[in-house]
Amino acid sequence: MSEKKISIYPGTFDPITRGHIDIIYRASKIFDEVIVTLAVNQSKKPLFTIDERMVMIHDAIDEFSNVKVAEFDGLLVDFARDNSAQVIIRGLRAISDFEYEFQMALMNKKLSPEITTVFLMPNEKYTYLNSTIVKDVAKFNGNVDNFVTKLVAKELTNKFSAQ
Ligand code: ADP
Repeated sequence: MSEKKISIYPGTFDPITRGHIDIIYRASKIFDEVIVTLAVNQSKKPLFTIDERMVMIHDAIDEFSNVKVAEFDGLLVDFARDNSAQVIIRGLRAISDFEYEFQMALMNKKLSPEITTVFLMPNEKYTYLNSTIVKDVAKFNGNVDNFVTKLVAKELTNKFSAQ
């Protein structure tokens, strides 16, 4: 029996965008299982709580039957091993992503040579998109409907009108 191909897709997802969803969709076509992995211990100061981000991710991945979501704290390679994942998925948008991603992939390979990082490119319409830019637009009441799910757009409006 061939081994089940499991990949993890780690990130902050503050909040999840259509760029992330595009990568998840591509990964779901390649791997038997994709675990969207919410990194809880990040030095960045997130806008949304872990629970809020979890709800938005769950809503976004609802249509994919082989995708699930989990939280993780600690070393990514340990999480991958504990979940029998052979692959770490990362998204590559532009050259600017490359240096940091390259460094992280090499470090993870040093820590755990059996785990491979795979880079996926999104549809080019999402190459300029990141969570920070979406938050900046939403903060000043710009329309973010093309960049995020309906739920995320609503949560962004709630968050900024409460501030
Ligand atoms: P991190 O804070 O670790 O960069 P993010 O949640 O911002 O976490 O991103 C998780 C992964 O998704 C990273 O590999 C990032 O490059 C990728 N990513 C984010 N936005 C996009 C996008 N618009 N298109 C493709 N990949 C993306």
